[in-house]
Amino acid sequence: RGGTAEREVPFAQPGSLTRVYAVASGKGGVGKSSVTVNLAAAMAADGLKVGVVDADIYGHSVPRMLGADGRPTQVENMIMPPSANGVKVISIGMFTPGNAPVVWRGPMLHRALQQFLADVYWGDLDVLLLDLPPGTGDIAISVAQLVPNAEILVVTTPQQAAAEVAERAGSIAVQTHQKIVGVVENMSGLPCPHCDEMVDVFGTGGGERVAEGLTKTTGTQVPVLGAIPIDVRLREGGDEGKPVVLTDPDSPAGAAIRAIAGKL
Ligand code: ADP
Repeated sequence: RGGTAEREVPFAQPGSLTRVYAVASGKGGVGKSSVTVNLAAAMAADGLKVGVVDADIYGHSVPRMLGADGRPTQVENMIMPPSANGVKVISIGMFTPGNAPVVWRGPMLHRALQQFLADVYWGDLDVLLLDLPPGTGDIAISVAQLVPNAEILVVTTPQQAAAEVAERAGSIAVQTHQKIVGVVENMSGLPCPHCDEMVDVFGTGGGERVAEGLTKTTGTQVPVLGAIPIDVRLREGGDEGKPVVLTDPDSPAGAAIRAIAGKL
């Protein structure tokens, strides 16, 4: 719709019944996208109408993890998002040729996010999850401008270094006056397949540290919503586009993520 006025973001309108969660992390590789996709699939399996915006421009991996290989189509002047496992999804990766790396700059990203929120036909959603790029970048600011009511969900690993950057990413909420719904600790130990003892591959305590730090900086109680262990089935599910919460809901990771979904 070149050059015309921007459509309003429906989720930001007073009276919108859609809960919007922006999933953030301090750095990449902590499982932010895996958590987003599995939360979405778990909520959809519980009967909620769920959408995911893959705004992680540097590592857009949500469609593959969700098994969404369809393309968006255009109807009238709206974009119809493909869906998979009961979840509607739109991704920056659907609009770049092949696997071209995204080298867009702030204003273009803002515009893309604006279109994902306003020009995509989402229907009546109960929940919209936004998978943000790692760190405290332009997109986090854009989200705050476009959907000020979006609540922030911080994903970290138990590791000290990861926790520090995660806390910084979360504390942007103070400046943008957004609510932090809670912290999810991922890769919280590996249950030994032989003896069931927990191997703390990435140490312990990162989730608690981030939650305590954010409670202090925001002045409101930020809870740890749950801890997800390292689980081969979660990784395999991501590679195959079959979220572990659906294929193996009672596996350690599957059960942990379903419990977190129940708190949102
Ligand atoms: P991010 O979005 O933070 O960059 P991803 O969700 O892409 O992270 O996860 C990074 C890698 O770690 C992926 O290969 C994913 O399958 C794997 N992974 C994430 N969480 C777990 C977990 N709890 N157990 C096993 N593998 C995991």
